[in-house]
Amino acid sequence: MLCGVNGPQTSFSFAPELHAFVTAEHITARAPVVTDGSSTLGHVVESLGVPLTEVGRLVVDGSEVSVAHIPRAGEHIEVRGVERPQRVPGAPLRFLLDVHLGTLARRLRLLGVDAAYTNEDPGDAALAALSAKERRVLLSRDRGLLRRREIWAGAFVYSDRPDDQLRDVLERFAPTLAPWTRCTACNGRLADADKESVREHLQHGTQRTYDVFAQCTACGRVYWRGAHHARLEAIVEKALRYSAG
Ligand SMILES: [Zn+2]
Repeated sequence: MLCGVNGPQTSFSFAPELHAFVTAEHITARAPVVTDGSSTLGHVVESLGVPLTEVGRLVVDGSEVSVAHIPRAGEHIEVRGVERPQRVPGAPLRFLLDVHLGTLARRLRLLGVDAAYTNEDPGDAALAALSAKERRVLLSRDRGLLRRREIWAGAFVYSDRPDDQLRDVLERFAPTLAPWTRCTACNGRLADADKESVREHLQHGTQRTYDVFAQCTACGRVYWRGAHHARLEAIVEKALRYSAG
């Protein structure tokens, strides 16, 4: 499709955040791109390696065009990144994370953000279908998965470090945070609980030492302010800070 000898020749420039996806010649120079004269701009951009989930405005010689635009000879095409915070219209903001993003899923849940995730990989087709069915933004580091047409909305996760991943998602989507309201194990809602009603779930040492504060309404897991609390508190505090500023 690309690099044919007879099609129209165009040139591209990409926003810095998209440089992770394109080859060096497209970062440093406006390398010529020969198209076939019938493929859409969306298709051409994808063929150059950029998932459309990461593409914001497309500007051709100063005018904005859609992904359906057919590139013509001599055009210079500017590919911009998504605007932050990114608004996802049509449904409450909810996420679906692929099998590699378990830590990020648990941190989002800790902050009260609806984050569906399972550590048993259902496969790309099932994930994409679930994104469509439940209108969830699919988070992934897999470009092939993000290219699937069925997905309702998606976002590439740029870092492989959970701290950076969390900051990236919070900055990009600015979800409403409600720390300590969601089960980190299953994504269910937490309800207040008193120690008496959950005594059977607690080990003896826990009974004596800690105050129970919540129980998951979906899986029954009991939460208390225990040994890991300071570390989790630090994650929450940091998230609230950068979400506020
Ligand atoms: Zn649960």
